[in-house]
Amino acid sequence: MIRIRILGSAAGGGLPQWNCLCANCAAARNGEIAPQTQSSVAVSADNQHWFLVNASPDLPRQIESTPALQPHPGSLRNSPIAGVLLTNADLDHTLGLLLLRQQQTPVLVYASDATRSALDWLELLLHPFGGSTWRTASGDFNSLSNGLAFRAIELHKSNAFQLRDEVSGQAALIAPVVGELTAELRDAVDTSDVILFDGTFWNDDELRAVRRGARSAREMNHLPISDSSLALLRHSPARRKIYVHINNTNPILMPGSRERALVQQAGIEIACDGLEIIL
Ligand SMILES: [Zn+2]
Ligand SMILES: [Zn+2]
Repeated sequence: MIRIRILGSAAGGGLPQWNCLCANCAAARNGEIAPQTQSSVAVSADNQHWFLVNASPDLPRQIESTPALQPHPGSLRNSPIAGVLLTNADLDHTLGLLLLRQQQTPVLVYASDATRSALDWLELLLHPFGGSTWRTASGDFNSLSNGLAFRAIELHKSNAFQLRDEVSGQAALIAPVVGELTAELRDAVDTSDVILFDGTFWNDDELRAVRRGARSAREMNHLPISDSSLALLRHSPARRKIYVHINNTNPILMPGSRERALVQQAGIEIACDGLEIIL
């Protein structure tokens, strides 16, 4: 049995974002919609060893709101967090690694070679504080811990991860940064029981409405929902399909919006912090 816990469901900046007064950020400050922390997912097959997919700058808060990630009785200093899988080197996915430095054992990090070399500076910062052990995430299934296997799916400038329960064979796809739909990713969408997918932007030009000259969704390596992943996920046979890594400008966050209704009509859920999925 695999437990998947969404620690943070928002894209970089969170909801609300400190310098943003878009409709969603205003509604989050008014208490009309729930604030959300930055994207990270925790996974465990034994409820003892937890692996994070991305470590956000909000990790301290996320640990304090998740008892399973807190130190267990038996010794004064310990952590159930056994390692971190990185989709890419973005700051909102990696700054949480700096929190994991006050320990005797090195932090275990799985990433592509490109992600590791982009994070040289972070590796140097961790070095005097217990350090870090880096492993290249393989494209073939490998055991991660008791009963949990995983593989990396290489995409344009990012990885997605497919996790598999080694007992039941059930699989989950965790893909918060998707800039292209490859054959391998489509295959993983068709062969996973649960899918957590890139829900960053609704439209390609969404950010330009709040900031003139902003890059498009595709330029930021996120396929927009409306003309890409909505159709893909609608037709996927997965039991649960959930948008994660949702940017604060995305209209699917607003209750009663047309866009939110379209997502729900397609059988896709919209993640929120603390959501737990059992596979
Ligand atoms: Zn991000
Ligand atoms: Zn905003």
